Amino acid sequence: MTKAEHLTGMTRDELERFVSDAGEPAYRGRQIFSALHRRRLRSFDEMTDLPKEFRARLAERATASTLTVESRYVAEDGTRRYLLKTHDGLPVETVFIPEERRDTICFSSQSGCPLQCDFCLTARLGLLRTLTAGEIVEQIVVALNDAYGVGAKTPRGTNLVAMGAGEPFLAYEPLMKALRVMADEDGLHIVPNRVTVSTAGVVPKIRELAAEPDRPHLAISLAAPDDELRDKLMPINKRWPLRELLAACKEFEESLRPGERFTFEYVMLDGVNDTDDHARRLARLLNRHQLRAKVNLIPHNPADPLPYRPSPPERVEAFKEILESKGVHAFVRRPRGRDIYAACGQLAARRDNAPPALYQLS
Ligand code: SAH
Repeated sequence: MTKAEHLTGMTRDELERFVSDAGEPAYRGRQIFSALHRRRLRSFDEMTDLPKEFRARLAERATASTLTVESRYVAEDGTRRYLLKTHDGLPVETVFIPEERRDTICFSSQSGCPLQCDFCLTARLGLLRTLTAGEIVEQIVVALNDAYGVGAKTPRGTNLVAMGAGEPFLAYEPLMKALRVMADEDGLHIVPNRVTVSTAGVVPKIRELAAEPDRPHLAISLAAPDDELRDKLMPINKRWPLRELLAACKEFEESLRPGERFTFEYVMLDGVNDTDDHARRLARLLNRHQLRAKVNLIPHNPADPLPYRPSPPERVEAFKEILESKGVHAFVRRPRGRDIYAACGQLAARRDNAPPALYQLS
């Protein structure tokens, strides 16, 4: 097959142009856009409102879906984890997290990850490849169809977090493109205001994001209150140390809307970064920069080859209280889907350690 165009990664305008170039009226492009994103169809065959002959021609040079679902796991808390595969055989993981008032879909921006955060399982894969805009959008389509049925209206709002495998700021172009496609009201209609992008600290892209007219929210993975420890836990810190990272955050702050804050994520590693002293230094660091931010404390999710244990709950509470007493808003994140290896830092396409899939596809 010659390189087929993946239509799921195109904006509505691009699709109109694509069909015009193929000698069809532009409205066919709008029809396809709505079929892909509003009706969440994943093959041309299902688009029966298009003439059969046109569908056949489309299929010759384009594709509606490129990811295949390898397996799916459903956790006791309702979290669903999907192991997907790209057309070139690379693993992609997506997690669907139902909550009372909304659902959150955690998607991947890369297959594997080039950053070498010492506490994260995905790092062990290395970078396989950055995903395309279409591959990002498809993850959302797959998860929503699985949770609610093909094209079915979702009962709650959908939030997205770019916190799966990969570093989203090293996938900046496809990520922003995917967000534009998903924001379209004729499609998924998930606007950037419902999206949070998490970075390990790619400083130039923090500045670039601040300048985007319609941007998602920002979260920053911190994991340590000083350069010495952060260098060890997150080697990206050697390239962009805390001083530069926080200076960029300070600039980003000017783009915050009323009531908006940005988030620091702090993974809690037993005996490594979770003492009272670490908490005091973290508060001092954030207060020194006077940032309109909150801190999410994430107990470490263990995974076999990782040399860390989660901080005990009392430690996490004590850490939180110190932050609060210094005026830093802190929240403890409840891990979701740990039993199926769906929690933060556990995504590395493993099947071996997960319990048998409740509903295994394929
Ligand atoms: N590369 C981006 C996106 C990944 S987000 C980033 O670093 O922000 C994944 C989040 O999970 C990050 O905040 C990271 O610090 C956290 N994390 C990684 N491994 C973890 C683990 N084993 N347990 C808990 N949190 C982890």
